[in-house]
Amino acid sequence: MSPLPPALLPDNATIGPAGRLAIGGCDVVELAAEFGTPLFVYDEAELRSRCREAVAAFGDGVAYAGKAFLCRAMARLAHEEGMHLDVATGGEMHVALSAGIPAARLVMHGNNKSSRELEAALQAGVGRIVVDSHDELDRIESTVTSEGCDAPAVLIRVNPGVEAHTHEFLRTGAADSKFGLAVESGEARRAVDRAAASPAMRLVGIHAHIGSQVFDVASFRREVDVLAPIVNDFALPELSVGGGLGVAYVEGESAPSITEWGATVRRAASEAGIGARVTAEPGRAIVAHAAVTVYTVGTLKRIDGIRTYLAVDGGMSDNPRPVLYGSGYEAFLPRAVDAARPERVRVVGKHCESGDIIVAEARVPADVSVGDLVATPVTGAYGHSMGSNYNMVRRPPVLFVKDGNARLVVRRETYEDLLGRDVG
Ligand SMILES: *Cc1c(COP(=O)(O)O)cnc(C)c1O
Repeated sequence: MSPLPPALLPDNATIGPAGRLAIGGCDVVELAAEFGTPLFVYDEAELRSRCREAVAAFGDGVAYAGKAFLCRAMARLAHEEGMHLDVATGGEMHVALSAGIPAARLVMHGNNKSSRELEAALQAGVGRIVVDSHDELDRIESTVTSEGCDAPAVLIRVNPGVEAHTHEFLRTGAADSKFGLAVESGEARRAVDRAAASPAMRLVGIHAHIGSQVFDVASFRREVDVLAPIVNDFALPELSVGGGLGVAYVEGESAPSITEWGATVRRAASEAGIGARVTAEPGRAIVAHAAVTVYTVGTLKRIDGIRTYLAVDGGMSDNPRPVLYGSGYEAFLPRAVDAARPERVRVVGKHCESGDIIVAEARVPADVSVGDLVATPVTGAYGHSMGSNYNMVRRPPVLFVKDGNARLVVRRETYEDLLGRDVG
């Protein structure tokens, strides 16, 4: 029955006298009228303050994990606020470089970087390469030799075997993983030894990432404890604890702040005698809470004794997380944010899949009707970035709103865009 918890709305959301939602001083109903739906609306000031919080919590070197949400405006924003930028593919690197981010501020990730990606990263002069395998060490050595590039600064990605309590598909730190080199088997030390001895690279540290949507900061403390002996034995100057800090998506959840996370990690590092620079690479914790997705209700189907389906004009193509992970979200009406929500509905999209669900068990005001706007909060991470063109649905635009101004940073896809690569 209860209204949407305001804590799930972006920091600079306000509710007007009639119950209407504004974000960054922009009325969301008016934004939808001007830009159409579906629509991603990001609170730019919140994005900036999360970046500043990360820099304050971890210091220089902390990187924004671009895969959570990447476009040129976001890359520039993170850079302007003092963050480095993680890129995991040649495509992400291309976006970051085309945004004008200096290559020295980029950290190149990926468990299967191609020779071309490595060549491009080395030629651009990326600040760090995080090496995920012995094959990659081979490839860096041969590329540096054949291209005559400078030896890059590298971190070895190790697998600490720490199981974060999170969804199985998000868990990357356990022994059975495609990521990193295992600490327990000694593989991590062998790779560190090899990198330290190689003239083709400059070993600066190790890196680990224990998973995503981690709510218990004690998991990061265990990670630091497992990594400390390697950092200390090799006197490495840098340690990156990865990303993964969780965010609250639905009523009743609460997550640690970036500040609390940083304090825990730094305390653990100092207690473990680590003198290295300790950094992290948050993605979700920077962008998730800052955005809402706005849809238009197209059909309401009441199946007596079973359920009501509320279908909107987007779906798994703008937010695949419910399908991939069974993730939960809330729903609300931007015209009546503080209204009670007695009506149980399932919010579904327009795709040709029964699994095309946005909110499996949503509650909405009783007067919801066709033509209404319905919105989902906390959709700033892994929605736009994991989106698709399934059913040739055009991907939605992205707005940054701040101080009463709305700035279009990604336009809506057009039907022509859908044919752009179709050369048959
Ligand atoms: C995904 C990922 C991140 C960011 O994870 P979040 O859960 O979005 O904070 C950081 N580092 C690496 C290596 C990743 O794979």
